[in-house]
Amino acid sequence: MSIDAIRALPPLREVIARHGLSASKALGQNFLFDGQLLDRIARVPGSLDGERVYEVGPGPGGLTRALLATGANVVAVERDSRCLPALAELSEASGGRLRVIAGDALEVDEAAEAGVGAHIVANLPYNVGTALFVRWLSSETWPSWWRSLTLMFQKEVAERIVAAPGGSAYGRLAVLAQWRSTARLAFPVHRSAFVPPPKVMSAVVHITPAAQPDGVRMADLERVTAAAFGQRRKMLRQSLKGVAGALDALETLGIDPQRRAETLSVAEFVEIARAIRA
Ligand code: SAM
Repeated sequence: MSIDAIRALPPLREVIARHGLSASKALGQNFLFDGQLLDRIARVPGSLDGERVYEVGPGPGGLTRALLATGANVVAVERDSRCLPALAELSEASGGRLRVIAGDALEVDEAAEAGVGAHIVANLPYNVGTALFVRWLSSETWPSWWRSLTLMFQKEVAERIVAAPGGSAYGRLAVLAQWRSTARLAFPVHRSAFVPPPKVMSAVVHITPAAQPDGVRMADLERVTAAAFGQRRKMLRQSLKGVAGALDALETLGIDPQRRAETLSVAEFVEIARAIRA
């Protein structure tokens, strides 16, 4: 039984020592060894038994082990070729439930590799984390190919993703993450949980797709949020001057042009984006 085979694998620290996997800063490597924490992350999407999971950056395979132990089928993309032998051992123990792709996650045809309906779960490399996240949320078609996102971020980035209006954390990332998704902070993770510990605290974020509001184009929403938050201290009548139709839209919608970007709800941004399209 492959779940028992995974539980019986040698401790991660031993695997790392045997394969000489010293953490590379350039590849954003901060490894997790705490089995309880890894199991907790793997539980965030709900039951994964028999589900497909796409993991970015398995490294020595700690989170991958926890995902396989749920009964999931995992496709994992790893850029560091030093990790491949350790991952091959894990693949062997998984009884064919782990497929490893050697390469850069930014260049993978994810929907084709992981399949439509896969859950994305990753302790992301910080240097590519936001780029991947923006790509996953910017899909033309909605809902996208993925069923849910469970992602480790620096705490400050996680707070920007789930931020409500009114504070300095609220901005383009919050609107992008919330206009057609539900985003929540699952739990914080102390920096000391990682080897080596990064300078900052982390947090796991969970995102599920919601219904996309009718008549709104992503490109229009991006133009409005880029302009509004690009000059976030200015009143909307100033910051939205360069966006064709935006000032008329404020008037039609009854949104006070003296307000500032961070006071607008996600729904108000959506209304402005819809109005400038028309
Ligand atoms: N998942 C492991 C864990 O939780 O211990 C490792 C997480 S570590 C923060 C990030 C991993 O992403 C590293 O293994 C690193 O080599 C890998 N990585 C970095 N850039 C990558 C990229 N562009 N594509 C795929 N993997 C990448």
